[in-house]
Amino acid sequence: MAQSFGLIGLAVMGENLALNVERNGFPISVYNRTSTVTEKFAATRAQGKNVQATYSLEEFVQSLDRPRKILVMVKAGGPVDAVIGQLKPLLDEGDMIIDGGNSLYTDTERRVKELEAVNLRFMGMGVSGGEDGALNGPSLMPGGTAAAYEAMEPIVTKIAAQVDDGPCVTYIGPGGSGHYVKMVHNGIEYGDMQLIAEAYDLLKNVGGLTPMQLHEVFSEWNTTEELDSFLIEITADIFRKIDSETNEPLVDMVLDAAKQKGTGKWTVETSLDLGVSIPTIIAAVNARIMSSIKAERVAASKQLSGPGISKVDGDLKTFVNMVRDALYCSKICSYAQGMALLSRASKEFDYNLNLSETARIWKGGCIIRARFLNKIKDAFNEDPQLPNLLLAPEFKQTILDRQSAWREVVITAAKNGIPVPAFSASLDYFDSYRSAVLPQNLTQAQRDYFGAHTYERVDRPRGEFFHTDWDAPE
Ligand code: NAP
Repeated sequence: MAQSFGLIGLAVMGENLALNVERNGFPISVYNRTSTVTEKFAATRAQGKNVQATYSLEEFVQSLDRPRKILVMVKAGGPVDAVIGQLKPLLDEGDMIIDGGNSLYTDTERRVKELEAVNLRFMGMGVSGGEDGALNGPSLMPGGTAAAYEAMEPIVTKIAAQVDDGPCVTYIGPGGSGHYVKMVHNGIEYGDMQLIAEAYDLLKNVGGLTPMQLHEVFSEWNTTEELDSFLIEITADIFRKIDSETNEPLVDMVLDAAKQKGTGKWTVETSLDLGVSIPTIIAAVNARIMSSIKAERVAASKQLSGPGISKVDGDLKTFVNMVRDALYCSKICSYAQGMALLSRASKEFDYNLNLSETARIWKGGCIIRARFLNKIKDAFNEDPQLPNLLLAPEFKQTILDRQSAWREVVITAAKNGIPVPAFSASLDYFDSYRSAVLPQNLTQAQRDYFGAHTYERVDRPRGEFFHTDWDAPE
């Protein structure tokens, strides 16, 4: 009997997704370029399961039910094109390729066009949740034609994470929209991680908290409605891990040089292309870049001095709560930026995104899963045209209640010479967004002065442009 689903690429994600698909009742065929990987999988984790190991693409394609549904989980970029190129001549009309890797949305856009033109179907599907999510239920963001989604829906709704209001998958939209949404998800993930790192830095260096105390604080935060999330949970776990070699907390033995694979950078690039302000996410990408020049920072630290750190001398609990408030307010700003970017992209690329549904499918399975996403889901449900999350009544009130603590934390960081690029970028975002008047009147005057770029006037209708000979004698 033919298998109902196929998967190519048996690395971390592919293996686990294959087992997830099979566990949910869909017989699966698998193929990997290096055959020893397939042999090992067949002999170990896939043994006794309805997983058919195949050793050539011809054998793989022949083993599948028609119309075929093939999930490709290989390295993004050239490898995806290579696999498509090899598969194409073997497929029949109506067969579908689903790219589940972290592909650049413009590549997906191109592939959808190329494959639909020859009567094949192509979906670009963002998959989040890492190894564990892939096995037990990821968040899935599929984009492509609605008809293609319909054909894969029975499978993806089963393998996705399940939350109180359904499976963490929905039809995202046409073309590269699935990968676009996954890219922004990752940008938001960068923001969340950097904000948590800054909270940690302050609690450790100004609050003087030990890793065990940090474990307790983060565990407590993880019980709150606003911060209960996967990233806070794993952060609490990390603080309690002891290095078996040194008997020291393992987190203190980890080198402070962060790596990145590119989705954060792509989020920044598209935000600049579309003219959407996402300073928290940009700060998070920059923070990883700055961290990566470790040797240069170590050398600079011997020459450039700062104010020195004065530890909290008052009530430590109050300080911890202030950092929590700063973290939450900054997180709201970061999500406001990510959602504003999605909203703009939806208009620009005709994605017709449903932002409430997007927040819903991030509630489970993915790295940014959090209870707080319920509030975002509700906000866009109540007003799908909401221009910015900061204007939703719930978030407006939260920031009103907590902004003095947030400001105090940013001041404390500056006074102590502790970098908080994402906390302060978030606060700047909030203060800029709520300002009816910004100083860019001066910027426009300068542009007109040196480049005759013209300016508009506050006392005339928009769209009327003026030029002044600024250095002409009065
Ligand atoms: P990966 O390390 O990104 O890719 C390894 C897989 O790609 C192997 O199966 C490898 O086959 C195959 N491959 C590489 N070049 C190939 C080519 N030219 N032709 C055919 N196959 C080729 O694996 P991964 O970490 O499981 O990730 C898969 C995709 O999911 C990536 O796009 C990744 O960005 C995305 N993703 C990963 C995670 C994660 O947590 N790891 C989470 C979400 C999304 P060989 O064995 O023959 O080398």
